[in-house]
Amino acid sequence: MSALLSVSDAHVSYGKVEAVRSVSLEVADDEIVTIIGANGAGKTTLLNAIMGVLPLKGATAFAGADMTLLDIEDRVAAGLCLVPEHRELFGTMNVEDNLQLGAFRIPKESAARSFERVYTLFPRLKERRKQLAGTLSGGEQQMLAMGRALMGAPKLLMLDEPSLGLAPIIVADIFRTIGELRAAGVSVLLVEQNAQAALKIADRAYVMELGEFILSGSAKDIASNQRVAASYLGFQHEGASGI
Ligand code: ATP
Repeated sequence: MSALLSVSDAHVSYGKVEAVRSVSLEVADDEIVTIIGANGAGKTTLLNAIMGVLPLKGATAFAGADMTLLDIEDRVAAGLCLVPEHRELFGTMNVEDNLQLGAFRIPKESAARSFERVYTLFPRLKERRKQLAGTLSGGEQQMLAMGRALMGAPKLLMLDEPSLGLAPIIVADIFRTIGELRAAGVSVLLVEQNAQAALKIADRAYVMELGEFILSGSAKDIASNQRVAASYLGFQHEGASGI
């Protein structure tokens, strides 16, 4: 497995409070990796630190290069992109203009291709391209946030709680599209409280509790783990394995 992203022994603190402790993870090319865990486990903090929004103590490498000293701009230029939990769209701008913002660092010729790719993944965005972002449904706003990130042709898309506040039918739609990204050559690091949906599309998973990874493995093995089933999937598996 060639690691696209590799994080080793990461620590992230807010003042004296350590929110992420001794975390190591890898995401390979064309892989979907999920981090599941309860509210406050440290998932958002970890993604923000990988993106460079928060200082991280430890080693991080991306696409073969040391990221430790890179600022956010350089990380984006290298192909790393984060879709934050609150989506951060420009509500008074239409869909197309929001997407255009995601293409600001790529050449004009590539932007046309990016629009095409995003509209193929999210036909709904094409239908609504002249609609103001602030008037879209929650699911459409999540599609737009992901579409805007994809406009810059990232190698790794980090998604923070894409299912947040969405109806189950929309979640299924969003997750189907996340599954399609792998085929489009984009790796995904997916942070989710909806463990069931995340484990269905992921190749591998990490389980985070109180700032630490307590378990990792193939998504299939994690989904059949007794403790995960009881704590995160809301049921006991018959014949599920313990930790
Ligand atoms: P959620 O799903 O609620 O976002 P999470 O797993 O992403 O949960 P984080 O938001 O990363 O968890 O929070 C991890 C810990 O860090 C929590 O104890 C939280 O209270 C704390 N924390 C988060 N942001 C800050 C901040 N800006 N200042 C101080 N502590 C913070």
